Amino acid sequence: MIPSNPIGSLANGEMIPTIIFALIIGGILSVLKEETRLVKDFFTQFNKIMIKMTIWVMKLAPIGIFCLMASTFATLGLDALMPLFKFIACVILAIIIQSVIIYPLLLLLFTRLSPINFIKKFSSVLMFAFSSTSSNATIPLTLETLSQLGVSEEVSSFSIPLGATINMDGNAIMQGCAVMFATQAYGMDLGLSALITIIFTAVIASISAAGIPSAAIISMNMLFMSVGLPLDIITIIMGIDHFLDMFRTAINVLGDAICTVIVAFKNNALNSDVFNGKNVK
Ligand code: ASP
Repeated sequence: MIPSNPIGSLANGEMIPTIIFALIIGGILSVLKEETRLVKDFFTQFNKIMIKMTIWVMKLAPIGIFCLMASTFATLGLDALMPLFKFIACVILAIIIQSVIIYPLLLLLFTRLSPINFIKKFSSVLMFAFSSTSSNATIPLTLETLSQLGVSEEVSSFSIPLGATINMDGNAIMQGCAVMFATQAYGMDLGLSALITIIFTAVIASISAAGIPSAAIISMNMLFMSVGLPLDIITIIMGIDHFLDMFRTAINVLGDAICTVIVAFKNNALNSDVFNGKNVK
């Protein structure tokens, strides 16, 4: 994980050593502040260039995906569709388990508040996240709904924008399933250490994805490279990504909100009467 040659890691696409090196550089830049402003500005501006380049590439992507999918299905026939359907079903099932079992349990366990009450009021936010496929675009609605649920703005105005950027379990779920889908498609057998690498990298990849439509696809490259998988299967996933993005954005937003309610509760920043609908303004 610690690079002996950071430039070599960068050139060879070894993502984890590269990320660790970037984190160290970022940490040092934040300590040295003014002394290294030039370098910090360089990275900030270079980041803008890369984002612009990505936007241009994504504009061309639909044509490329159309051609790649047409050629894949023309060569492999309908046989190629079945594994894709299984992949979609697997992602949606995992997302349902996370949202119907894990999150309500966490809410109950840490706060004893009613998950049903929460979902009743929060469902419109989930619908908005589902249709906009953007956690960032959902932030204002999430904040408003949490305040109607009695969560103090002091907590939500910090944790919701932060969560929309770094807390993306929908992405981690989808990326984990995508790696399994790819390894099975290529007939590869992953060992335990590769599986642990996948879990670790999928979490980092989901943290690094922005809360915008299809961001997970971009960070998925890093995951595939970390276990030495060819990248071409990502183009097949891209063809159905918008559909999956709807589900994962909804669960990303749900995760941010549930964690915010828990943090607010633990810090006495939640009005339980308002949450339970006893005193709704
Ligand atoms: N669209 C997702 C979000 O905004 C990110 C992604 O899964 O690509 O949360």
